[in-house]
Amino acid sequence: MTFQFTSIAEYQNALRNGMVSCIDVVDYYLNEIEKNKHLNAVIAVFDAEARKQAEDLDASLQSGEQLRPLHGVIVTIKDVLCYKGHEVTASSNMLKGFRSLYTATAVQRLIDAGAIIIGVTNCDEFAMGSSNENSAWGPTLNAADNTKVPGGSSGGSAVAVQAGLCMVSLGSDTGGSVRQPADFCGVVGLKPTYGRISRYGLIAYGSSFDCIGIFGRTVEDVALVYDNIAGEDPLDATSLPWPVIPFSGNDIEPEKKYRFAYFDATLHLPGLDPEIKNTLESFFSVLRNRGHVVESLHFDLLDYIVPTYYVLTTAEASSNLSRYDGIRFGHRTPHKTEDLTEFYEFNRSEGFGNEVKRRILLGSFVLSSGYYDAYFTKAQQVRRMLYDQVLNVFKGFDALVMPVSPTTAFSLGGHKGDPVGMYLADIYTVFANLTGVPGLAIPGFRHSNGLPFGVQVMVNHGDELTLHRIGKYMQGVLQHPDI
Ligand code: GLN
Repeated sequence: MTFQFTSIAEYQNALRNGMVSCIDVVDYYLNEIEKNKHLNAVIAVFDAEARKQAEDLDASLQSGEQLRPLHGVIVTIKDVLCYKGHEVTASSNMLKGFRSLYTATAVQRLIDAGAIIIGVTNCDEFAMGSSNENSAWGPTLNAADNTKVPGGSSGGSAVAVQAGLCMVSLGSDTGGSVRQPADFCGVVGLKPTYGRISRYGLIAYGSSFDCIGIFGRTVEDVALVYDNIAGEDPLDATSLPWPVIPFSGNDIEPEKKYRFAYFDATLHLPGLDPEIKNTLESFFSVLRNRGHVVESLHFDLLDYIVPTYYVLTTAEASSNLSRYDGIRFGHRTPHKTEDLTEFYEFNRSEGFGNEVKRRILLGSFVLSSGYYDAYFTKAQQVRRMLYDQVLNVFKGFDALVMPVSPTTAFSLGGHKGDPVGMYLADIYTVFANLTGVPGLAIPGFRHSNGLPFGVQVMVNHGDELTLHRIGKYMQGVLQHPDI
């Protein structure tokens, strides 16, 4: 009997026909997680609980109940999502041993829809990074090549899907942390519109950027999960009240001709791997041959988007992370001291890793009284300009297309001592977070170095349905042998 299904829909058909049971599938995945421990993707496994959930789901089906929307779907969640009673550390020594006091809305909605949470995935500390190397649990390895990083910060989630350790995974995307690891691992990654999926129970990094995102093997799987967890939440004041139009029942219109735009500057970036550039240009030709419009637009703000992102997110992070003082939360120093400031200093310098400290320092600097206007206010103004530009783009086009990352997965340690080099590689992903629009990373190409990469599509705020339709369409085009 096989437990490897090409999609959730196929798996659920097998459940419906009594060909498999949830318990067998859970056992299969538990075994895969155990066999692939060297990847260090899954850092906590809920074996007993997952088996119990599976038995309950099997019993409900046997007693004649209908399949739930995510019935038996095996899910992992990034170590920044609260799940009541379970340890959540943000992959930081600061939070080791801390147990969630409540469950994130997105996780609760998964459970309510019948999904099985099988474990927690590794990530960069407090979701800060692009390689999963900044983790107190050690790095995660890319399953396509164990000498390469999986991307980050949600590297563990990407690998968990890539290596078949779960069916789908939840990550978080503040500046690309779902789309970039998805690209490095050859899986699908969605960052929804800001506010589409409740942030309640997501450990904060940059609150005006943070989004919970979804990894899956296909666009359809990702869309199904999205449809079940998106939507307004009274527990998150920034969640959008707009209705979620489900993908199921609103599938692609095969004959529809889309209007795609791309920014000229994105393909002329000096750091862009020439093979990625050429591949995307040929992909654009394929789309044109199929009757779609693909037009280049002039864009002169490209040089500003990474600095703007890092000024604003470090500012927000320095404020968000001030709560980890070792009194209310977090690591408490074994050093004895009577001085409160010194006590905080011990707690925070022992608890946080280097990248987190760097960002807290940067953020405090850009918010400091002498520099606030020069950096923080200026960055807010650039953000506004980008927002206005993106609205303009979607007046004339259905979608904006660009690479996900300038390179394929780099070697472990490849950016050691070069944080700015790593930041600059976020150039294609931070745009969606600065403007709030949804973005989807769709895999489909293979580089001559053997590693996967794909294409990124963005659409207007709230239009995930179009994004999923385009994603499914492109997925089909990319599976075609002549690409
Ligand atoms: N790589 C980006 C950063 O380091 C993105 C992180 C994220 O999306 N959480 O900030």
